[in-house]
Amino acid sequence: MKLTFWGAAQQVTGSMFLLETDDEYKVLIDCGYDMERARQNGNAAPMPQAFPGSVFPFEASMLNLVLLTHAHVDHSGNIPNLYREGYEGQVLCTTPTAELTHLLLLDSAQMHKRKLAAANAGGKKRKKRPAPLPSYANEWYVERQVEDAMDNFVGIAFNQRFKIKRGLEVTFVPAGHLLGAANILLHVKENGVEKTLCFSGDIGRFNYPLLVDPHPLPPVDYLVCETTYGARNHRPNVEIEAELEQIIHETCVEIPGRLIIPAFSIGRTQAMLYMLNRMAAQGKLPPIKIFSDSPLALQSTKTYVKNAKHLNQTARDFLAEHGSLFDFDNLVYVEDLKTSKAVANYHQPCVIISSSGMLEGGRIQHHIRTNLSNPYCTILMIGYASEGTLGRKLLDGNKSVVVGDKELAVMARIVYTDAFSGHGDQTDLLNFVGQHPAERLQKLFLVHGEVPAMETFRGLLAQRGYQQVELPARGQTFEL
Ligand SMILES: [Zn+2]
Repeated sequence: MKLTFWGAAQQVTGSMFLLETDDEYKVLIDCGYDMERARQNGNAAPMPQAFPGSVFPFEASMLNLVLLTHAHVDHSGNIPNLYREGYEGQVLCTTPTAELTHLLLLDSAQMHKRKLAAANAGGKKRKKRPAPLPSYANEWYVERQVEDAMDNFVGIAFNQRFKIKRGLEVTFVPAGHLLGAANILLHVKENGVEKTLCFSGDIGRFNYPLLVDPHPLPPVDYLVCETTYGARNHRPNVEIEAELEQIIHETCVEIPGRLIIPAFSIGRTQAMLYMLNRMAAQGKLPPIKIFSDSPLALQSTKTYVKNAKHLNQTARDFLAEHGSLFDFDNLVYVEDLKTSKAVANYHQPCVIISSSGMLEGGRIQHHIRTNLSNPYCTILMIGYASEGTLGRKLLDGNKSVVVGDKELAVMARIVYTDAFSGHGDQTDLLNFVGQHPAERLQKLFLVHGEVPAMETFRGLLAQRGYQQVELPARGQTFEL
């Protein structure tokens, strides 16, 4: 069999790996959106095209199966395009992953629609032709195409060895990281010899709010491992709840002002609401309003509730005792845009959780616009923000930034914490690889990381006896 790296190769996003067995069965593992290409700051070689205008370097109609590790768009975002380009097979993933992917792909389709409308409107304004679309606009799909793709999703239970065909079996092993996320374990039998492969997806953390710990894996022959945090460690987990409590106290009680938390609608927002709920149950939350302001967050919170059996024991115990994971006094789910704008001007101390996490688009924009020059406001950044985003500019300490079409002075306090990161850190990644003895492992492929982080991580692995480590480039093929 052979394995080709078509995405997340010497960069973080766009996970996409093509496995072809000797009998020419073609399996695509993940099919993500390449954010680095979209922002034109990736280091990877350009993506070849199967035909002019194609999103993919291969004929989608020739694929036999797609396996999906988890819902995040850098792993799932291009799946509708497979169907648009003639793929007719299934997507296998866990049931919660299918549900969250549905929400995220619909959200992407709406974003594509807004971008297209903005390009056309720009053209009208100047009485010229519409503004030229970016080179990656061939990736933009509509809601109907998302529904076409979703018709072919098949939910598979965790930890069940599922037979795809003779000589090919898959198991979805819980990875933590996000509701439904899995490491994909493949058993491939060729010429009477069985080989095992593991695709890590994204590796979660231990003791993360709501999520199960990553499950142990059996030793494999080939490992494809993400390296987002290959070069650094998070601070210890135990500080998360205390840190949140302290920031709320400082901002909303001592000053008293408002706390704005930009958060991804799926994953981070639920972790945050659950922690606030726990604080409320312990009487540690001051009597202030908490606004959760994102329609997508509301929908995904319902998906978390529906799939509570997949959450960790502590969360399930909390649910049994208190009857709810995400509802408590003073929590307000903001649904319509009018209320959202009113919340931006709400004059009492409060906490506002809204998306997007990097402050690019979404309702968070008007909260930031209204409050950025307010010295009584704290903006708590809880996730990574990539180069060029408004979130990055705030983290870099800019004294003024442009929001929409206005330049605003940054008077609010900007605070950063990595406590909520859903990714395992360097130690977690080393432990993850450590499950696979070096003498058994034929090859270890590092993906889904920035090249310097991967180099650092490769150095650490070498010290532990792992010499067979590759940093595959886009389009590189390995015979396994
Ligand atoms: Zn992820």
